Amino acid sequence: MDLGLAGKWALVCGASKGLGYGCALSLAREGVNLVINARSAGPLAESAQRIRDDAGVEVVAVACDITTASGRAEALAAAPRVDVLVTNAGGPPPGDFRNFTRDDWIAALDANMLAPIELIKATVDPMIARRFGRIVNITSGAVKAPIDALALSNGARSGLTGFVAGLARTTVAHNVTINNLLPGFHDTDRVRTVVGAQARAQGIPYEDALRRRIASIPAGRIGDPFEFGQACAFLCSAQAGWITGQNLLVDGGAYPGTF
Ligand code: NAP
Repeated sequence: MDLGLAGKWALVCGASKGLGYGCALSLAREGVNLVINARSAGPLAESAQRIRDDAGVEVVAVACDITTASGRAEALAAAPRVDVLVTNAGGPPPGDFRNFTRDDWIAALDANMLAPIELIKATVDPMIARRFGRIVNITSGAVKAPIDALALSNGARSGLTGFVAGLARTTVAHNVTINNLLPGFHDTDRVRTVVGAQARAQGIPYEDALRRRIASIPAGRIGDPFEFGQACAFLCSAQAGWITGQNLLVDGGAYPGTF
């Protein structure tokens, strides 16, 4: 299927590796030019070159912290226009909510709720004026099935989800859709770090900790960031203009509910 995206420009945040990189590569293979962002310049530049070599599109790399106003301004200024916006940043740390301070909550809200909202605010009206826009927020399966130890993530991402549910209904008449992609358990550096910590805590080899984790996934395997990216590319396609305000789980069937 031709997704009708060739020649568009996308800003993909948190895209030097992991799920953001999977989204950037998938969009690039559809002919989308990219501004990609992450904080560490070296790995970001390498990823940008890998995408150029793979897909032959323009890729501008902007090393900045997307959770800050100056970082967002820098990333937005690098794009001739933003037809597609993929919001993403690192997730907040785990812990017992009794130990979180107000500053911890503000940092989580900044990264996982307010940064995406500010990016949407900066891009949605020009999208409406051009009568095309696709916004995808990378959130988490924890929005549908909260994870106790990830209280900061459960709270901040649910705030973004509620906001998007309202706004997405007001933009769709202009062919501007806003959806959230909810990752389950994907093979990324972040997850490898988490599984490594679990293995050490349980005193078992990494492979055993990984096997235990995978046992709870009906698909019987860990997710591939590129297949997550392909779901993102479809949500950004010309064909997906009637899909808005949705929360799409990409989790190998891990979420057990009917809805
Ligand atoms: P990852 O492998 O650690 O990659 C995160 C990417 O975002 C990197 O490119 C990182 O580069 C960049 N980044 C982090 N903080 C940033 C910031 N403040 N500004 C700009 N770039 C930033 O993580 P991932 O597994 O792909 O996860 C992506 C998101 O999905 C996270 O919010 C995570 O909580 C959520 N999630 C992931 C899974 C999963 O299975 N992987 C499951 C549920 C939810 P720099 O460090 O250089 O900035």
